Amino acid sequence: MRRVTTPDGTDAVVGHAPGPEGAPTVLLYCHYDVQPPLDDAAWRTPPFELTERDGRWYGRGAADCKGNIAMHLTALRALGGPEGRGFPVSLKFVAEGSEEQGTGGLEQLVPLQPELFAADTLLVCDTGNFALGLPTATTSLRGLTNVVVTVSTLKGEMHSGMFGGPAPDALAALVRILDSLRDEHGNTVVKGLPGDGSWEGGLSGRAVPHGRGRPRRVSLVGTGSVADELWARPAVTVLGIDCPPVVGSSAAIQARVRARVSLRVPPGIDADDALRALTDHLASAAPWGARVEVEPESAASPSGPAPTALPTGHWGRRSARRTARTWSSRGRAVRSRCATCSPHTSRRRRSP
Ligand SMILES: [Zn+2]
Repeated sequence: MRRVTTPDGTDAVVGHAPGPEGAPTVLLYCHYDVQPPLDDAAWRTPPFELTERDGRWYGRGAADCKGNIAMHLTALRALGGPEGRGFPVSLKFVAEGSEEQGTGGLEQLVPLQPELFAADTLLVCDTGNFALGLPTATTSLRGLTNVVVTVSTLKGEMHSGMFGGPAPDALAALVRILDSLRDEHGNTVVKGLPGDGSWEGGLSGRAVPHGRGRPRRVSLVGTGSVADELWARPAVTVLGIDCPPVVGSSAAIQARVRARVSLRVPPGIDADDALRALTDHLASAAPWGARVEVEPESAASPSGPAPTALPTGHWGRRSARRTARTWSSRGRAVRSRCATCSPHTSRRRRSP
């Protein structure tokens, strides 16, 4: 194991453990950097102090991706390690330090030192399990496209007491445009993109993995199964809106506002097609002749499937067969996992 400084100034940890003669090489990937804690007061325990609460461990990055580093090390120990009976394959290891901040250090290092990464199989262990205690192999990931939509209606702000009513409000126009991206059930609706894909992996329920983040009275949105919606259908999210914040807002009709819109792209849809469809949809949804500019930020196509990389025994072979069959009969993968990245990493054309 050693430290390598990447061109963006961060450090990557790389390692190599040769296996038996002729054995394939497996590259293990993870990252150790984490998102900033942001509002310290919103944390119930200190963000950078790993703290046990009700049998679970909490801390910034405990799951993404420190938990995955622990998983790698535990698996390597179980396999025997250099001091035990030895690994059955040649191993390469990389833990990067620039994934969350999105500065691309590792991408720049790969062409400079390709020998560090050459392998027969790559395991990107930066995804989660479908449910607590259920080991999950992620064989494909949704793609992603992000745009910034700017809506202009007036040359300048106007007083809402004097002109409110007839004056075209840019914020109201943006609200209408954004609302057109979902139907009344909450399904994502982008003209030209199929929104009725189904996932045939045996999970047809409406239970959310881990069941967290939603007060009891708030219902799930969409009409498919949770698996359909997570893995087989486009999903839109408004990541941010630039308009006056409540504190300091005045009696003004807005002239120009903007929003960042993110669209997760399921397997079977090309990200560039999705970007075109989203751009056309946003432009054509403008009410009152409002001027709409759509600036593309990123487009990364769905990845996978990787069924051949799964183990050939027990559940691995079964799931690999099922994945391959699904692809050949429907022309698209439906055994996929949701991407977990933050908007910070979206500019790097990377899905996980
Ligand atoms: Zn991660």
